[in-house]
Amino acid sequence: MSFELQFFGATGQVTGSLYALRSNGHLVLMECGLVQGGQREEEQNRQDFPVAIDEIDAVVLSHAHIDHSGRVPLLVQRGYRGPVYTQNASKALCEIMLPDAGYLNEKDAEWQNKKLRAKGKRPIAPLYTRADAVECLEQFRSAAYDEPFDVVPGLEVRFHDAGHILGAAIVELTQKNPGGAKTLVFSGDLGYRDAPVMNSPVAISHADAVLMESTYGDRLHRSFDATIEELTGVFSAARAGKGNILIPAFTVGRTQDLLYLMAEHYDEWQLDDWQIFLDSPMGIEATRVYSDYRHLYGARLFGPDSSLPDLPNYHASRTTEDSMAINKIESGAIIIAGSGMCSGGRILHHLKNNIWRPECHIVIVGFQAYGTLGRRIVDGAKEIRLWGDTYSVRAQVHTVGGLSAHADQLDLVNWYNNFDNKPPLYLVHGEPEPQRILKQLLENDHGANVTIAEHGQSVDV
Ligand SMILES: [Zn+2]
Ligand SMILES: [Zn+2]
Repeated sequence: MSFELQFFGATGQVTGSLYALRSNGHLVLMECGLVQGGQREEEQNRQDFPVAIDEIDAVVLSHAHIDHSGRVPLLVQRGYRGPVYTQNASKALCEIMLPDAGYLNEKDAEWQNKKLRAKGKRPIAPLYTRADAVECLEQFRSAAYDEPFDVVPGLEVRFHDAGHILGAAIVELTQKNPGGAKTLVFSGDLGYRDAPVMNSPVAISHADAVLMESTYGDRLHRSFDATIEELTGVFSAARAGKGNILIPAFTVGRTQDLLYLMAEHYDEWQLDDWQIFLDSPMGIEATRVYSDYRHLYGARLFGPDSSLPDLPNYHASRTTEDSMAINKIESGAIIIAGSGMCSGGRILHHLKNNIWRPECHIVIVGFQAYGTLGRRIVDGAKEIRLWGDTYSVRAQVHTVGGLSAHADQLDLVNWYNNFDNKPPLYLVHGEPEPQRILKQLLENDHGANVTIAEHGQSVDV
């Protein structure tokens, strides 16, 4: 009975998750994520898949974030015809996120082709189109948390709440052998213990091997109270300075956390003085899915009969005209827009209009991958370039760490320690330094046997 795991993506980096699982002659792809970052990093998405597509029997996705799901349309475009399994709410989120990713690919190719044509070079095709993404959704299948199903003969999958974003799952894979079962637990992305909306990740007590993310393996998030205090400070400084507040946010997860927190602290933050814009058709759609699946988390994000956040001055900016109207506002706007790492999307227009104004504030609430504009802003860039023009960074930049959707070092250690048999642990989904520090801590203080997963490496469970 063979049960073998091979690492292909999110090794030594956070994005591009992709693992192959071989169980008794069947091949299951775990995750099929986009590499995100600068143009150089994203070129990798066009490469061949590391396994033959006609050998893949099933795909399993832990959650809808594009760095875990975003290459599924490409896989289908290149010939994959099998099922793609994920949690029910994750499927609902993929239905909006993947077509959006396809649309962004088309826009991106258009933009690049303009430049290529000017240089007399051959145009490129989009990585995949919106139509490709819509087509791949036909192959999606879904299950509730704790509802086991056979993904291939003899291999059972069970999703558990990972507490990261809506629908995010810890994936428990059990190979049912006559001689005894073998279990591999894949953490997916784990949530933060103080997450405002989502529940805490489910604890699992037994596994024969564990695959765990390690995004924040080297640090502790600031306490949640400190985060609220920080945000209070930002809102009061911004009110005094009479500028705007820009919040680049992942449309799924961070955006709903922010809406929830603004409703919770509405009086304390004197939000009556502001107009709150969710400038993101995707964020608006994702918020609707959060409303449809409100039974999956404890926080009260919506009123009992409403699918809108409980904020009187909330504006959902769906159309381009809605979005452009915000450009005229010089003061008193809180603008939540994607992309979360400023690598595209409407946030770029708001940066163009506000980043050079010292009275404005940019609040970074999520992880910024190496090579992205968001990372450069966090790292203190003095100027940025947008559409060929240079803008000085004079707005005040705040990094509010405690709103992360990811477990911090303590959460990761605690989650691993729930296993009472100290299973071998493989670290994925992290940059080298956080992984090194987490490995050291788990080995020295917790008696774990830790391997930092390397590209192409395969291990027996
Ligand atoms: Zn994620
Ligand atoms: Zn991730």
